[in-house]
Amino acid sequence: MTKFPRFVGFLRRLRRGMQKKGVAISGRLDPSDQQRPAEPSLLEFRDHASYQQYRCENGDVLAERQRITDACKQAGERFHVRGYCDACERFVDLLVDYQGTPNARVSGQPNWRERLVCQCGLNNRMRAAIHVFRQHCSPQPNAPIYVTEQVTPLYRWLTQHFTNVVGSEYLGKTIPFGTLRDDQVRNETLGALSFSPNSFQYILSFDVLEHVPDYRLALVELHRVLRPNGTLVFSAPFIPAHAKTTVRARVDSKGEIEHLLPPEYHGDPLSDAGCLCFYHFGWDLLDTCRAVGFRDAYVVALWSREFGYLGSEQLLFVARK
Ligand SMILES: [Zn+2]
Repeated sequence: MTKFPRFVGFLRRLRRGMQKKGVAISGRLDPSDQQRPAEPSLLEFRDHASYQQYRCENGDVLAERQRITDACKQAGERFHVRGYCDACERFVDLLVDYQGTPNARVSGQPNWRERLVCQCGLNNRMRAAIHVFRQHCSPQPNAPIYVTEQVTPLYRWLTQHFTNVVGSEYLGKTIPFGTLRDDQVRNETLGALSFSPNSFQYILSFDVLEHVPDYRLALVELHRVLRPNGTLVFSAPFIPAHAKTTVRARVDSKGEIEHLLPPEYHGDPLSDAGCLCFYHFGWDLLDTCRAVGFRDAYVVALWSREFGYLGSEQLLFVARK
């Protein structure tokens, strides 16, 4: 009971302050309840300072989320957490194991961002990305959409829900950019897209930008092919405690890759070799979005026990042309 006045104070601060919506800690989770849970808070942040302020003022909420996440953990190499998949629009058992967790035995923490996988194939971050896309864009079924992946469950989901979707993969120099391989997979490189200006109402790009040596050029290109008033929704490795982007690797004047930090490779659906990560982004990524012409750019943070967005908050970037 002693916590109640603090909670009221917290609600007042939220009403007064930068956020329009309350911060969801948890809520009722009834596996027999097939109705869509109440919408979680999708908080918007336009700079590092406002995010820091939010973290400072909501330490108790964040600690409670960690406690709830820990309580969802079960013994064994794999387990399931009940949650509402916003892509499938029903409650499902979300798979958690220790894939993608460095030193899993030592840390004992699943990679919550990459796991919590639904039967539809979508994990925590991808389900959250769909959630943000629908809530922040309200896309029409026939809206022209470009997504920077094509051999993935996310592309499949998009083609099942929208009639005008173009996907692509980076196939290198195996075939010309802008053309289709025999299996209809399109080859594109973000630094030089083959599309005409103003082609798409929405562009979705999830964990691709960090693999592009010149990410600024990629943002210039994404902005170019978006329609006026179009929206780019994207994710990338982002360290919200960092104001500035960390450059992990770069391409030198001879075209050779120079590693500034130990190389980090991410899973690649097209190759076992993995894909080199050039950047861990900081808040200056929003400045870059604005500098290349986006009229607004912000980070959306969401967390929800009911929707299975556990672990740290899912952080998505939204940039509006
Ligand atoms: Zn699903």
